[in-house]
Amino acid sequence: MFATSIAGSLPKPEWLAETQKLWPQWKAEGDALRQAKADATLLWIKAQEDAGLDIIGDGEQARQHFVHGFLEQVEGIDFENKVKMGIRNNRYDAMVPQVVSALKLKGRVHAMEAQLLRAHTKKKIKFTLPGPMTIVDTVADRFYGEGNEGRIKMAMAFAELLNQEALALQADGVDIIQFDEPAFNVYMEEAADWGVKALERAAQGLTCTTAVHICYGYGIQANVDWKNTLGHEWRQYEKIFPALAKSSIDQVSLECFHSHVPMDLIALLEGKDVMVGVIDVASDTIETPEEVAETIGKALKFVNKDRLFPCTNCGLAPMSREVALKKLEALAKGAALARGRV
Ligand SMILES: [Zn+2]
Repeated sequence: MFATSIAGSLPKPEWLAETQKLWPQWKAEGDALRQAKADATLLWIKAQEDAGLDIIGDGEQARQHFVHGFLEQVEGIDFENKVKMGIRNNRYDAMVPQVVSALKLKGRVHAMEAQLLRAHTKKKIKFTLPGPMTIVDTVADRFYGEGNEGRIKMAMAFAELLNQEALALQADGVDIIQFDEPAFNVYMEEAADWGVKALERAAQGLTCTTAVHICYGYGIQANVDWKNTLGHEWRQYEKIFPALAKSSIDQVSLECFHSHVPMDLIALLEGKDVMVGVIDVASDTIETPEEVAETIGKALKFVNKDRLFPCTNCGLAPMSREVALKKLEALAKGAALARGRV
């Protein structure tokens, strides 16, 4: 009961990449970089186990960014000529690569990290991939055409590639494959209309547990500012959860602690496992186990205890290592406290 895990990303050590950045520059190249990525992955496997987490991830140490890490292995994308684009409905600008021809995987994307993870922990392992709709929102299109029709076509093309990699990850021994779809919270109507379909295409044929992580984004200033415009009650999930409840995806992750998401929205996810965000990623203040247990207690009113999985609100990538480590410990201790109470 209450098996704990992180949403996905963890801070990169300063010998691997620039710290506290969303798109950090690597500190090495070639074989030295490959080795450094593997070393950092091992380090975080051990740290998650020591903190007492139940489901272990790779901490996304081998990818520069949760979307672009995948895109680097896709043929048909021009990484040389990045362009500035407003992403998440123009919430902030990012330098994004361009889709210039038909998309195809160059080969395996995450074999190294997944196999390392499987070889070095006996616990269940979770692996994250970007969701198709979020990819479409983090890349510039010069091939699939204008408007919604082009976006849907491109999303389905990415979904097919994601599916290939997801099936290979499953064969590597991954127990849970999670697709990250922060864009679902931005384009609610499109998410319910075609985003969920694209997601299901990405998960097609998987027999391992499947999950989707939606959130209000990393704890960067642009997101904090955006959240301040959302008012007292954040009801975005209300528009997407019914579509997800009907979908084939097994688990849904949402942010609960220090967010204005009304807890009762969880009830819309009947029949799904719920990864309840109990750790704030936009604040360096370490949660107490009591706070974590309290958030779990509140969520328990709307989801059965066997379906509740305490998690972080989002990735911890832009935080300091020290803070992230303490937050992992708080997560595990808080879940243990809640377990004792139920
Ligand atoms: Zn997130």
